[in-house]
Amino acid sequence: MDRYLEDPDRALRQETWELVAKRRLQDVDKCEDLIDEIVRLRAQTARNAGFENYRDFMFRKMGRFDYTPADCTLFHNAIEWEIMPAVREIQNDRKRQLKLEKLRPWDLAVDPQNRAPLKPFAQVGELVSRTQKIFDHLDVELAAGFQQMQDLKLLDLDNRKGKAPGGYQSTLNEARVPFIFMNAIGVQRDVGYLLHEAGHAFHALATRDEDLYPYRSAPIEFCEVAAMSMELLGNEFLEEFYPSDEANRARKTHLEGIIGFFPWMAVVDAFPHWVYTRAGQTRTEREAVYLQLMDRFGGDVDWAGYEDVRAHSWHRQRHVFLYPVYYVEYGIAQLGALQVWANSRNGHARVLKNFKTALALGGSRPLPKLFAAAGCKFQFDTATIKPLIHFVGSELKKL
Ligand SMILES: [Zn+2]
Repeated sequence: MDRYLEDPDRALRQETWELVAKRRLQDVDKCEDLIDEIVRLRAQTARNAGFENYRDFMFRKMGRFDYTPADCTLFHNAIEWEIMPAVREIQNDRKRQLKLEKLRPWDLAVDPQNRAPLKPFAQVGELVSRTQKIFDHLDVELAAGFQQMQDLKLLDLDNRKGKAPGGYQSTLNEARVPFIFMNAIGVQRDVGYLLHEAGHAFHALATRDEDLYPYRSAPIEFCEVAAMSMELLGNEFLEEFYPSDEANRARKTHLEGIIGFFPWMAVVDAFPHWVYTRAGQTRTEREAVYLQLMDRFGGDVDWAGYEDVRAHSWHRQRHVFLYPVYYVEYGIAQLGALQVWANSRNGHARVLKNFKTALALGGSRPLPKLFAAAGCKFQFDTATIKPLIHFVGSELKKL
């Protein structure tokens, strides 16, 4: 239903949003029963393994040796203090441009100036050749890597009948080469995805001579730095796809998306932290905790008349059920990527040299060392976030 939520017709958007909300409400009890059961079983799993709760069990299971639940809490607080003001500013801007008195939940995805979607390319061949040009601008070695992927036919990008959905980068481990699978349909998102997946592919190419198989891939927190950095660095050359004003529109959407991601990430991390440390919780307690988080991180959106939908809006986030306390990785990585991008303002050459060195380390070093090699701090506190958000804000003003 997403494309109808992007439609300029507000009544259509509201109808779409309500249909989805109503359908989800039918399953409220099922989802609540399910989470009660999962929490109970997982608490037992944790106890069996000698842990006090399932969150601590998962931290160990996911190999999180370089940060603790307390670090995550600091991250949530920093997002509340440093990023929420920027979120509110963006929401205010949107409200003003849409000439609305209040932003409702169905006003968040439409282009605030009601413009038609950007059309970066018509044929997948153009997507590939223009992306190649972006890498030609950035770095000789990365450009050669992407060219090699073309030569070896390691890009399967076009959407066609019968093709499986989704998009990802994976690696042919025997040949030690990456490939990218996508379903491109000619929208700006496709350009962002390809830059992102190419970042992962460059990571795989950088470690292909590593003999120890587990060292050929890095922890996810750093893998995503590689991918998200490529989006930010690559977006500087979007003029390969668009005239300047349209390129700026795409950049603005991307940067606002980054800012808007952090608060939802905070909710999807903080909520399971609570859920999976409180065996025996009641539904009322759980709802109260969730609503508190929505108050802290929801921004200025008017949910009047839909309180029930808001109180259960976490049901749509499968991580709470399937991958508890797995989500903060993407926030940590985005902080790394923003640092790489900010550093690139003092010249691309040195930043990319460090970047490639860090990628080549694969999984042979712990996270703080991988981040340091890429020229970033592995910290998610106010002191790290404040200047980065300031930087993004000043870049947004230029657009
Ligand atoms: Zn990724």
